[in-house]
Amino acid sequence: MKRTRFIAILFIALSCISMTGCCEKTKDEGKPAKYIFLFIGDGMGMGQVSVTESYLSYKAGKLGGEQVSFTQFPHLALCSTHSANRNITCSAAAGTAIACGAKTNNEHIGVDPEGKPLESIAYNLHDKGYNVGIMTSVPVNHATPAAFYGHNSSRYGYYDISKEIVASGFEFFGGSGFYNYRGKDGNEPAVDIYIEENGYDVCYGTEEFEQRAEDKGVVFIQESGRETDPENYVSDGAEVCDVRLSEMLEMGLEVLGDEEPFFIMCEGGTIDWAAHANKTMAVVMDVLEFDEAIKKALAFYKEHPDETLIVVTADHETGGVSIGEGKDWRPEFVDWALLEKHWIESGEKNVLEYEENEELNKKALIGWTSSHHTGARVPAFAIGKGAEKFAGIIDNTDIKGKILGE
Ligand SMILES: [Zn+2]
Repeated sequence: MKRTRFIAILFIALSCISMTGCCEKTKDEGKPAKYIFLFIGDGMGMGQVSVTESYLSYKAGKLGGEQVSFTQFPHLALCSTHSANRNITCSAAAGTAIACGAKTNNEHIGVDPEGKPLESIAYNLHDKGYNVGIMTSVPVNHATPAAFYGHNSSRYGYYDISKEIVASGFEFFGGSGFYNYRGKDGNEPAVDIYIEENGYDVCYGTEEFEQRAEDKGVVFIQESGRETDPENYVSDGAEVCDVRLSEMLEMGLEVLGDEEPFFIMCEGGTIDWAAHANKTMAVVMDVLEFDEAIKKALAFYKEHPDETLIVVTADHETGGVSIGEGKDWRPEFVDWALLEKHWIESGEKNVLEYEENEELNKKALIGWTSSHHTGARVPAFAIGKGAEKFAGIIDNTDIKGKILGE
């Protein structure tokens, strides 16, 4: 073989090898992680996160430096949250934007502004063989979880949305109950019976969960949500829940297992409720509860670091909380122990009147500008496979594609 010809062949061969290598790398890069956790803190803007961390620092006797787990993630993007028809989104449109990667009108669940169904990331991944778990600290048919399995032009079509649990075929659902358990007017058959008759095991409380049917999809509802419109979770220090969000995540992991790939959406839903009421300490408690669930995912990530992606974001900010409303803020005035003392003295545990709460905020020098959602950008923290895609200023409709590795 002539030398020049040999070099030419060698060159082509090497090019092929390097091209194959390159293609393989690109192919792998375009693949979603095997295990995906998407955490959505409803109403959790940077203000809610910052006040929680500032409170933690106060408890540690410091002026700063304490962090929740997810603000230590290496990647961070800031997301715009407007909906298709409003500067300020609701949880339905924002949930749909995150789940389906498309803007829609406020109050729309999993459908576009014209009411045409959109496909959520949960369905995309389910079709690819992923097991899917959808869980929340609030009702399982509330807007954020609903956006991942439901299709309805009204977020308040709770009864029909619940029925879509069956149509989804997803493996695990968890929540504090069903809104409109017997339909809007209370005249319909109980929705859990419909779900059970169509192949799911609806378990109320941990005991029923332990005895669940292994070969069926599971809908876990906390005991206090049995046959009723559900109560609150951690907000206001309410102890009505028998299962915490972090424990619900563990239940989801138990059902999904780690042999097959999975996608989990876990919502800290009560952060929003506390922020609507401008209840600073309840916000702190709910962000910490949410963080406990994220820590469980982090433990899983540490066992599967090359195959796991964790994204922690919010659908919107609620309340416009600021630290503070004056020259400094005084965390001791929102301290839980202090609130508890207040409750004991007033004989009314778990209930803090609006005026009393406002008084505490004034003493603590915490600023709240609204009792509704705001248009502030929200963070998306990420760690694990593909996490580097979360950087800079993005839109909430970009999150789906980034998780899918597109
Ligand atoms: Zn809200």
